[in-house]
Amino acid sequence: MRILLLGASGQLGHELTRCLAPLGELTTVARSGHHRALDLSRLDLVEQLLGALDPELIVNAAAYTAVDRAEDEPEACSVLNSELPARLAARAAASGCPLVHYSTDYVFDGSATVPYTEESPTAPLGVYGRSKFEGEQHIRRSGCTHLILRSSWVYSTHGHNFLKTILGLAQAKPELRVVDDQIGTPTWARALAQLSAAALARLPDRAAWQQRGGTYHVSAGGEPTSWFGFADAFVALARERGLDRPLARLRPIRTADYPTRARRPAYSVLDNGRFERAFGLRVPPWRRQLRWCMEDFVPMPGTAGGAGAQRTAAAGGR
Ligand code: NDP
Repeated sequence: MRILLLGASGQLGHELTRCLAPLGELTTVARSGHHRALDLSRLDLVEQLLGALDPELIVNAAAYTAVDRAEDEPEACSVLNSELPARLAARAAASGCPLVHYSTDYVFDGSATVPYTEESPTAPLGVYGRSKFEGEQHIRRSGCTHLILRSSWVYSTHGHNFLKTILGLAQAKPELRVVDDQIGTPTWARALAQLSAAALARLPDRAAWQQRGGTYHVSAGGEPTSWFGFADAFVALARERGLDRPLARLRPIRTADYPTRARRPAYSVLDNGRFERAFGLRVPPWRRQLRWCMEDFVPMPGTAGGAGAQRTAAAGGR
């Protein structure tokens, strides 16, 4: 099977590169690294690539994920998150190849008090969430066979994300303030990639796709936490793993005390039940995923405080 993976240099794409390799002949596309180089905002070039490769499965892990910057760059955000999926879906519908696409808890407004299901009403709070929801809608309306996997709070040892930002800052500052009133379940990019590959392995033919294709929630399981709770857990694990430098004391703050350009959902918990039942898979709890991820931090890196992943909603020392 010819598989085309877009966004191979991102947190999730990096992990998918490894997890999808056993499933077929994989072509990976990104702006940088050891991948086929392509600027995915050039939709004409994307069409050319699709024509040349004639993929039998398209996996789209590319996205515009700079949530705050999106408020000032709605067009750039829309090209990647709405128009690109529309083109991929049109191609998938025309050629009969399935499309796997990733979406986000940001399609919800966070006013719920129980986990969001796939049927919960969407109400994005900002440009990023709206663009991701538009991308979903284009795919559903195209009639192509698809999986739309909505996740939340994705982190990794690769790329820019909350965990690496906080661990970097925690080694440089005595105290960090971290938001304690946004609730979710942090999802390790590798776990999401592995669950994606496992689901794909359970879709052997067109009939299986037609029966089980659709939109699913796939975030980490376990008791939801806050950004503060997440940071507290990984800083404790870093200490446990013998980081010899002193680490910052964490102080919980409210969202109102850490204003950001884009509003974020206060409650981001996704119900993974439909995915688990459809594919006979178990989504591991976030604390177990975090422990596995932290095993990769040996020795602990001097992570520079990168920013720019979907979430830098919580931070400190500013
Ligand atoms: P990243 O930001 O880590 O990766 C995004 C990828 O898209 C990168 O490979 C990036 O390339 C690529 N990309 C962006 N613009 C272009 C472009 N113009 N041309 C070529 N490539 C481009 O995102 P994640 O891995 O975290 O996210 C994966 C998916 O999961 C996305 O759909 C996202 O919306 C969704 N998601 C993410 C969450 C999170 O917390 N991060 C939470 C919930 C869902 P480059 O490296 O060159 O910038």
